[in-house]
Amino acid sequence: MPQPRLYRVEAIVLRQQDYGEADRILTLLTAGGKVTALARGIRRSTSHNVGQLGLYARANLLLAHGRNMETVTQVENLDQHEGLHGDLLRFSYASYLAELCDRFAQPEEESQPLYDLLAAGLRWMATRDHLWLWARYFELQLLALAGYRPELFVCVRCGRDIEPVDNHFSASEGGVVCARCGSGEARAPGISLGAQKVLRYLTIQNEEAIERLRVRPATARELEGLLWRYLEYTLERELPTTVFLRRMRRELGLAGLDQPSENVGASQSGV
Ligand SMILES: [Zn+2]
Repeated sequence: MPQPRLYRVEAIVLRQQDYGEADRILTLLTAGGKVTALARGIRRSTSHNVGQLGLYARANLLLAHGRNMETVTQVENLDQHEGLHGDLLRFSYASYLAELCDRFAQPEEESQPLYDLLAAGLRWMATRDHLWLWARYFELQLLALAGYRPELFVCVRCGRDIEPVDNHFSASEGGVVCARCGSGEARAPGISLGAQKVLRYLTIQNEEAIERLRVRPATARELEGLLWRYLEYTLERELPTTVFLRRMRRELGLAGLDQPSENVGASQSGV
């Protein structure tokens, strides 16, 4: 029998499924697209790969090419994202980012930027505060990569510059609808001026500036609902992890966000 072709690849574990007695089938994101791989014996307590190749771990792998799926033959862990494990909220947000990438990525579709974005996103979820804000930043970058960046500066119906007032947002038309067009017959849901400012800020600022941003809880909730609607419209499907995230926060007694309401900055800085 010819030897299987071996190759090295850096990957992030998006999903895993137990298989047989001790194996696991992994869905991996690589810069070359999604890959399905079998990790033999990974669930045995003696396997030293178990911690190295857990959910959302980033690792260098040596894969053997197979007809139906690849087989993991060597693992060198690069980042286990320890902050995600043992913290349900962080873990839930990481699940959400992984689900989004799972939906947007295709097998054998090269995308180094998507891979780099998920690697960064998991790092934010493992280490940063204000996770909801990093989730919004992630969503906007992902939408831009996928060609669905929402239009925030000119009305998607009439093309006029968007005025700094409460306007409308149309998921199906991909952006802000001006107050004049949006109040007409085909009424689009409203978007507050504060939410528009935060969206613009998130699309033009860097990580350091995002870290400093404080947003009113009501605006934060508005943005989450708006982006989840837009993503579900774009993907033409529901995102189960958003339901899970909402329930998790309720059970943790969080005010619809990541911190108890008194800890969320009541004023906006920079926007
Ligand atoms: Zn208009």
